[in-house]
Amino acid sequence: MKIVMLGAPGAGKGTQADRIAEKYAIPHISTGDIFRANLKQGTELGKKAKTYMDAGQLVPDELTCDLVVDRIAQDDCSRGYILDGFPRTIPQAEFFTAALAERGEKIDCAIDVEVPDENIVNRMSGRRACPDCGATYHIVYIPPKKEGICDHCGAALIRRADDEPETVLNRLKVYHDQTQPLIDYYKKEGVLRPVDGTKDMDDVFTDIVKILED
Ligand code: ADP
Ligand code: ADP
Ligand code: ZN
Repeated sequence: MKIVMLGAPGAGKGTQADRIAEKYAIPHISTGDIFRANLKQGTELGKKAKTYMDAGQLVPDELTCDLVVDRIAQDDCSRGYILDGFPRTIPQAEFFTAALAERGEKIDCAIDVEVPDENIVNRMSGRRACPDCGATYHIVYIPPKKEGICDHCGAALIRRADDEPETVLNRLKVYHDQTQPLIDYYKKEGVLRPVDGTKDMDDVFTDIVKILED
C-alpha cells in the first residue's frame, strides 16, 4: 500500500495520514516533519532547509528527493507507506516515479484532499503542533483535551512560525504554482482519488478508508 497525500498546506494531509498510518500499520512519512526534526537537531540539512521554510518557499528538490528514496528503502516500509508533503513539484514526482520504477514499484493511490483557499488561512491560524511527538491540533476544530497541552505526551503545544498569515499566503501561492500540477500528473497515472477535505475530520477519514478498501 503506497499512498501519496496531495492537497494545499493546511488541507488536513497530516491529520489524515496519521490516522491511515495507524489503521493500516504503515509508516507516515512527512518531509515537513523530517526537515523540522533536522532543524531542531541543528544538522546541515536543517540549517539549509530553514531559510526556505521560514519564507514559505519550497526546499530545493536536490535536498528533498534522495532523502525520501532513502527513507522508503528502510525495512519498516516493506508493506507500504503514506507520503505526506512529498512529492510537491513535478520534478520531484518524476524523480520519484523513476526511483520506484527501478525497484519495480509504483504508487497505488494519490489522495487529493480538496479544501478551498478561503478555509486555509483559518485552518493554519488555529493549528497547534506538539514539538515532541508531532501531533497536530486546531484550537477550534480539533482542540486538545487540555488547552495548550498535547493529549499524547503532555508537552506544551506550539504555533509553527510558518503558520503566520503572511507566510501562509506565500505557501498557498507556491502550492498553486508548483504543487497543484501534480493533480493532473497523478490523474494521468490513473491513481488520483479526490476527497472533500471541508468535511469533519472523521467523515474525511471514512471517505479515504472507502477509497483504500476499494
Ligand atoms: P504543510 O503540512 O502545512 O503543508 P509541511 O510540514 O508539509 O507543511 O511543510 C513545511 C515546509 O517544509 C514547506 O513549506 C517547505 O518549505 C518544506 N517542505 C516540506 N516538504 C517539502 C517538499 N517535498 N519539497 C520542498 N519543500 C518541502
Ligand atoms: P496539512 O498537513 O495538510 O498541512 P494538517 O493536517 O496539519 O494539514 O491540518 C491543518 C489544520 O487543520 C490543523 O490545525 C488541523 O488540526 C486542522 N484540521 C485537519 N483536518 C480538519 C478537518 N477535517 N476539519 C477542520 N480542521 C481540520
Ligand atoms: Zn505530543
